[in-house]
Amino acid sequence: MPQPLPAGLESVGCALCGGDRTRPFARRDGLQVVRCVGCGLVYVNPRFDADAVLRHYNSGQSSRIQYYLDVEAADRWSFAELLDVAERLRPARGQVLDIGPNIGTGLALARERGWQTRGIEINEEAARHCREQRGLEVRSGTLAEDTYPPDSFDLVLMADVIEHLRDPLGMLGIVAHVLKPGGFVMISTPNIASWAGRLLQVKPEEHLYYFTPATMTGMLEKAGLEVLDQQALDRYHNLTAMVYSTTCGSLFQVLAPVLRLAHRLLGDVIVKLPLRENLLAVARKPDSRARTAGAP
Ligand SMILES: [Zn+2]
Repeated sequence: MPQPLPAGLESVGCALCGGDRTRPFARRDGLQVVRCVGCGLVYVNPRFDADAVLRHYNSGQSSRIQYYLDVEAADRWSFAELLDVAERLRPARGQVLDIGPNIGTGLALARERGWQTRGIEINEEAARHCREQRGLEVRSGTLAEDTYPPDSFDLVLMADVIEHLRDPLGMLGIVAHVLKPGGFVMISTPNIASWAGRLLQVKPEEHLYYFTPATMTGMLEKAGLEVLDQQALDRYHNLTAMVYSTTCGSLFQVLAPVLRLAHRLLGDVIVKLPLRENLLAVARKPDSRARTAGAP
């Protein structure tokens, strides 16, 4: 007989195929990560409910602004590569929406490179940083169907965001809604098919969904988007600031005193680590959106 769930937890079915048959995938921080028997999607179940998550994102435990400032130089290099891809697709630039820009590192770079930029950020403090420190047009909150008019954007960026969402398929549907026909969405997320993704990115308090290229394709297509490309993505890291990272923090804690000293003496030491722990998916809204089955 199923046990009642503790307060603050909820049970969910598969967000991709709707199934509820799963096998254990990993267990960490007292939470269970499972893999759907039907489609292979990996997700946290049971998970914290919406109220518990909102408290987490505004508690200062997640997305600490100081951390993102420490790694800003490295993040600019990583975002520059994303924008290189975007600008090959759309040399003329245009309107970009960054979902979850955090302190706005990528959005500020996009503006420098000629994009017209907007963002929406769940962390109130980070959204304020974007507006007040960088003069970016960033709303506080989460993207909803009526946040922007349909067909508003040439490009939607979701960098390290989709794994945090409670309803990733619903969000991709909204992305398809706000993209112009022919517009692109670029999604970076941990690749759970990679060894480094499995080793470093299973963080069930923060990451609710874990994608492989196959499950990412499935979800994008279900949202009515055409997958153009998926590739392994290596990130630039600031070696001397890694001691502050939630991903690599535990690995680097032993080196903390050395790294702090190195950071003081050397400043930023930026390297690209060939870990292949992330994937980059690029998808496109069809020019004339095919009606979904059952629609008039
Ligand atoms: Zn499934």
